[in-house]
Amino acid sequence: MFIDSHCHLDRVDLTPYENDVDAYLEATSADLLDHLLCVSIDWEAYPAMRDLVANQKKISISVGVHPNEVKGHTPSVNELVEAALRDKAVAIGETGLDYYRIEDDAQLSCQQQRFRHHIEAAKQTNKPIIIHTRNAQEDTIKIMREEEAGQAGGVLHCFTEDWDMAKKALDLGFYISFSGIVTFKNAKQVQEVAQKVPEDRFLIETDSPYLAPVPMRGKPNYPNYVKYVAEKMAELKGLPLNKVADISANNYNDLFNR
Ligand SMILES: [Zn+2]
Repeated sequence: MFIDSHCHLDRVDLTPYENDVDAYLEATSADLLDHLLCVSIDWEAYPAMRDLVANQKKISISVGVHPNEVKGHTPSVNELVEAALRDKAVAIGETGLDYYRIEDDAQLSCQQQRFRHHIEAAKQTNKPIIIHTRNAQEDTIKIMREEEAGQAGGVLHCFTEDWDMAKKALDLGFYISFSGIVTFKNAKQVQEVAQKVPEDRFLIETDSPYLAPVPMRGKPNYPNYVKYVAEKMAELKGLPLNKVADISANNYNDLFNR
């Protein structure tokens, strides 16, 4: 039994499943998972995402705005806090910094300000924070330190950076989450991090419907494919698969107070 610690069910095209999330979960064997965390990407889509999974006992939600969402509303600290408490979200995010597709200074400072607001909301609600970081190592760690993100704790999700950054995040009390990227042949840097990360500090995720792992790379990704991530982690860490399932689930439960 695995936990998918990061997926986006509201980004799935449910028309083949008659717009029924139950049918989707069953058809894709996601109902075999122990638990799923459905992560918010933008403020406008958030209420529909919340309602989509409202009756699902196995699915938790987060509330937040992805750094690459430049068009929609940027919620204030209060808006984030209110939504998280009202809707029993288990985490704040995903938020963070992504300099890969940044177009100008305005976007840069918007991302940074928003990241700071999310950390503040996480501290006020005492909920962990889900961080997306890409090509922004220095500023991510700098803002995490300045805003004392360690008080809330959280996870660097879909990790793609190097061990140096992972170590700094671990030192702040954060967890590292591995997606299907860790199964990619050329992902040596992430695989090295996976080998070195302490057993009590990693999570596994799909980030579905994006980023299908090997052997499904290039195809649609489903929450149940977290098993391929777990298999790769087992190989890299020299652990039996059921041990990876157990410890990653325990880590998830510790972080998200489940
Ligand atoms: Zn995501």
